[in-house]
Amino acid sequence: MADVYDVVVIGGGPGGYNAAIRAGQLGLKTACIEKRDAKGAVAFGGTCLNVGCIPSKALLHASQRFEDARDHYAAIGINAAVELNLPVMQTHREKTVDGLVKGVSFLFKKNKVDPYFGTGRIVSPTEVEVTGADGTKQTLATKNIIIATGSDVTPLPGVTIDEKRIVSSTGALTLAEVPKKLIVIGAGVIGLELGSVWRRLGAEVQVIEFLDRITPGVDGEVAKEFQKVLTRQGMSFKLGHKVTKAETSDTGVTLTVEPAAGGAAETVSADVVLVCIGRRPYIEGLGANEAGVKVDGRGRVETDGHGRTNVPGIWVVGDVTTGPMLAHKAEDEGCAVAELIAGKAGHVNYDIIPSVVYTHPEVASVGKTEEELKAAGVAYKSGKFPFTANARARTIAEKDGFVKILADARTDRVLGCHIIGPEAGTLVMEVAVAMEFGGSSEDIARTCHPHPTLTEAVRQAAMGVENRIMQM
Ligand code: FAD
Ligand code: NAD
Repeated sequence: MADVYDVVVIGGGPGGYNAAIRAGQLGLKTACIEKRDAKGAVAFGGTCLNVGCIPSKALLHASQRFEDARDHYAAIGINAAVELNLPVMQTHREKTVDGLVKGVSFLFKKNKVDPYFGTGRIVSPTEVEVTGADGTKQTLATKNIIIATGSDVTPLPGVTIDEKRIVSSTGALTLAEVPKKLIVIGAGVIGLELGSVWRRLGAEVQVIEFLDRITPGVDGEVAKEFQKVLTRQGMSFKLGHKVTKAETSDTGVTLTVEPAAGGAAETVSADVVLVCIGRRPYIEGLGANEAGVKVDGRGRVETDGHGRTNVPGIWVVGDVTTGPMLAHKAEDEGCAVAELIAGKAGHVNYDIIPSVVYTHPEVASVGKTEEELKAAGVAYKSGKFPFTANARARTIAEKDGFVKILADARTDRVLGCHIIGPEAGTLVMEVAVAMEFGGSSEDIARTCHPHPTLTEAVRQAAMGVENRIMQM
């Protein structure tokens, strides 16, 4: 057996690769094991780089430019004859992914992380077995193990994913042609982002959602506005319904749909169906159970809130444990755990994890929603400002949406920010930073913001908390 590692990371996604790089930076002898295969070579980057955040954003960007040129440029004096070249758009996606995946291997080299291509299995708290694609096995001795095995698609009983007619997000990224009709099951982040991509490229998109609202967890007022905007863009919604059966033929799929509350079933048909009802933690073949690592009722590896599992020396980060399934949350946990292993003060502030839906307009939030504050009995004040009253938004013809800031009624400390509008994902960060510093709505309102920028809408919403909006 070779030298003993300080850290062996199992899984090379944002949780795992950031943990490994940070551990390497801190001088720990580190290995990272990844089983994802891209044309015979190891593909680090996890779901995020390979089949998640990055390819979806490449297609969201390209499809938005296509729709702008086709439908919106004429209104600002640009006449363009626009034609879709889907293979080239898909090449843009592939090239973007390839470059970033290679970037992770480069960072491993730079930070002296040993890469291993294969499936990692915990043999004991100090041994990890790696099985390569050809079946060869080797055992790594280590002082610490970080579980970073991520998540996988939640299946829907009665609707079997074949990645051709009935696809998961992975298949929905690589469709070779634009479906005439796409049915999306689940009005969450994946459904609305990838539904938007294919709608922009010409598909009729219908979304079937179990609940009576879209995007559960998003501030209720924002979600209502979001649904209105998406409907205006041409997406249709069937809320309060569940799909119970799917029948696939050469030409399409027929779904049996029932009201969630019970009632008469009906059938709907589409060329392609996207199943996106959530993701679930992935620990298949990991040996976590055999090693005595505790897993909760939802299959998530349990932690003490600082990445430690119940087994000393075994840590966990990312989608496979509790908390939102977001790349930046996984990344922060990876860095924090590496720092804790190195004896430093690694920490994640779970109260301030921004989230963004990359539709057009974007939807972004940080901190508590109004619903959460009400449920917790917290007295709060709210300030709201519409983009239609923001000068920059008007110059770029992006008038949909608003910024809402929620602040403690007594102390004025900012408790949450919810934005639907242009660049919402970027705008929300000034509020996140203010919140990290314990800032008040007055702090944001009194900070000079450049004119004309979209950031002024954030400032005006902060001013709105004290009823002193200046622009209208
Ligand atoms: P993963 O990225 O899932 O990585 C885990 C890795 O571990 C995988 O590569 C897997 O092959 C490997 N692995 C598993 N078991 C083993 C084993 N035993 N041995 C070796 N390797 C193993 N989040 C955002 O924040 N922003 C977005 O815009 C966004 N968009 C998304 C779009 C889509 C379509 C999807 C599906 C997800 C998106 N996400 C987004 C979520 C994001 O991808 C995840 O939160 C993130 O990838 C989690 O990182 P992770 O490291 O925990 O797990
Ligand atoms: P989600 O949890 O965002 O949404 C799933 C939706 O499906 C919910 O609205 C839920 O009510 C609905 N649903 C559940 N069961 C159903 C059923 N039987 N019939 C109809 N509807 C049903 O999940 P997702 O969209 O699959 O995304 C998975 C994860 O990936 C999320 O946790 C998300 O954080 C992450 N992700 C993030 C981003 C981003 O940050 N921009 C993008 C994509 C994915």
